[in-house]
Parts: sequence; structure tokens; C-alpha cells
Amino acid sequence: SWGSLGDKNVYDWSSEEEEPDGRARPVQVLLVKDDHTFELDEAALSRILLSKEVRDREVVAISVAGAFRKGKSFLMDFMLRYMYNHASEVWLGDSDEPLTGFSWRGGSERETTGIQIWSEVFLVDKPDGRQVAVLLMDTQGTFDSQSTLRDSATVFALSTMISSMQVYNISQNVQEDDLQHLQLFTEYGRLAMEETFLKPFQSMIFLVRDWSFPYEFPYGQEGGMKFLEKRLKISENQHEELQNVRKHIHSCFTNISCFLMPHPGLKVATNPLFDGRIKEIDGDFLSNLKVLVPWLLSPRNIDVKEINGSKITCRGLVEYFKAYIKIYQG
Ligand code: GDP
Ligand code: MG
Repeated sequence: SWGSLGDKNVYDWSSEEEEPDGRARPVQVLLVKDDHTFELDEAALSRILLSKEVRDREVVAISVAGAFRKGKSFLMDFMLRYMYNHASEVWLGDSDEPLTGFSWRGGSERETTGIQIWSEVFLVDKPDGRQVAVLLMDTQGTFDSQSTLRDSATVFALSTMISSMQVYNISQNVQEDDLQHLQLFTEYGRLAMEETFLKPFQSMIFLVRDWSFPYEFPYGQEGGMKFLEKRLKISENQHEELQNVRKHIHSCFTNISCFLMPHPGLKVATNPLFDGRIKEIDGDFLSNLKVLVPWLLSPRNIDVKEINGSKITCRGLVEYFKAYIKIYQG
């Protein structure tokens, strides 16, 4: 029953243990501890990425990052639905089916800071005949104080470094401090990479949630691009600091794009008993979700992770992950 929220969609099995029924689940691979040190669960990472079926496949790594309680995990769960059902036109599923996968929740209690990956890596056939492995990463950052901002920056930097596509999930608008955070985070990443690698990051997607000016810039990707162009524009009469933030962001990513999402409705935003069933989600949100998720994940759109111009396999990604985390552990 769901008077108790306990069994709704919260997975808390230890990452060391195989889940009894063998079902896929989120696995915490990077944990930021209370003393601000980082812990990488190498065993868990290896179990997932070095399994025989995937280890030699080129990897597409998709990450969603940003402040907590802004609907990242909720979105990830729809991405999972797409991955599990994408052969079907109706990947969104039944209107009464609760949403499961990564843990997402209402309330405002603090979450752990770190990176979770989905224990199942998906094998996808690209239109050119190549089969690639798709890894989904959910990150948590808090961004609420000076000390946790540093932790969040590291999580964001690491997830940007190991992903081929970083979705920067932000609420309502692209504010100047969102851009400053991004500058700080990517600066963390670049500092670490310059020692070993020259290549900048791959794709950055600004995903604006609860966008409320569709009459100015319509929902979706085209409206998003026009909006972002305006937001990231560099002009002479801007303060130097504003110009620098923009130049920095442009210099870091091979592709930058933006998608404007409508508000999902009050049940999603405020009802503590909401369990993710789509019949309680606003139609505008759903119709944009049907555009957004295939835009991010369809076989033709996904890009393999590249570092220094070379395509990376799952096995390679584990090595990079280990190397990068060492840099932050000093
Ligand atoms: P995360 O911490 O960023 O992973 O956020 P969650 O996915 O756990 O969601 C936090 C809360 O926001 C939940 O109560 C969701 O129902 C709600 N939520 C999910 N998507 C949206 C959205 O697009 N807009 C709003 N306003 N709330 C959302
Ligand atoms: Mg979350």
C-alpha cells in the first residue's frame, strides 16, 4: 500500500551486495563523505562496466547534474523507461504505472552528494551498425554552503569529465549564478585534465525546468537555443566578469544546447503521495518529455565518449574514472 512511502521508489541496497532478485538498480559509485573526502567504489564500478557483455564496447555516458530537489532523478527515471521500452512508440508507459528507478522524492531533507550509476548498461545499435554501451549517471550536489559548493563542484567536474553528455538541470531560468557555478565546476575539471589531456568536454545541455515564458521563447530545443544564445551572448558593454564567464563556457564544450521544459503541474511539485504516474502529470510536460528524452537518447543522437580525440570503451572509462578521482584526492 502506499500510505507508507517506504517501498515507493527508494532503493537503498548496499552497493556491495547483489540485489536478491537480480533487478537493475542505482549504485552509488562516488560518495562525498561528511569530512569532504571522496570515496570511489571501484568494485561496484568494475562489476558494472567490466562485465563481459559491455567492457569492450564504446561507451556513451549520460549524466544529469545540478542542485538537488530540482527533478533530476525524476527525469532519469523517464530516461530509464525510454531505454527499457524504446522499441515502442509508447515508451512513456501506462498512465497508472508508478515511476521507479533512481530514487526521487519530495520533501527537503538532505541527500548524499555523489554519483550514482544505473547497474544495467544498455546495448544500443546505432544506425551505422555499431553497437554502443549506454551508461546513465545521476549526480547529487547540494550547492548550499561554501564547503558543500566545493564538494558539488568536484562531483560536477568529475561527472562532466567522464560523460559524453552532461545535462545541467536548472530551475526556472539560467541565472548569472548558474553560469558562475558552471564556470567554477568546469574550471575544476579543466585544471585536473590539463595535466594529462588537452581535449575539452563534449556536450553540455542546459535543461531549464519550470520554464514560464513560453510566449517569449517556446518550450523545447529551438526555443531553448534562441534563449541560450541571448543568455550567453558576449557584448562589449558587459562587465568583464560576465564576458569571462561566457567565454569560458564557450571554450569548454564541443556542443552547447538548451531545452526549455514546462512545469509538470502541482501534483508533481507538491503532493507528497505522488508516485510518478503519468496521468497526474500535466499534458504540456508530457508532450515535451516525449520530445526531450528521444532527443537526448535516441540511437542516432547518442555520442560515444571521447578523450583526446579517441573513443573510449567501458573498460577505458573505469581507468579514467580512477585516474581523475586521484587528482581530486590530491
Ligand atoms: P533531484 O534531487 O534533483 O534528483 O530531484 P527529484 O527528482 O528527487 O525531485 C524532487 C521533487 O521535485 C519531487 O517531489 C518531484 O516530484 C518534483 N519534480 C520533478 N520534476 C519536477 C519539475 O520539472 N518541476 C517541479 N517544480 N518539480 C519537479
Ligand atoms: Mg536525485
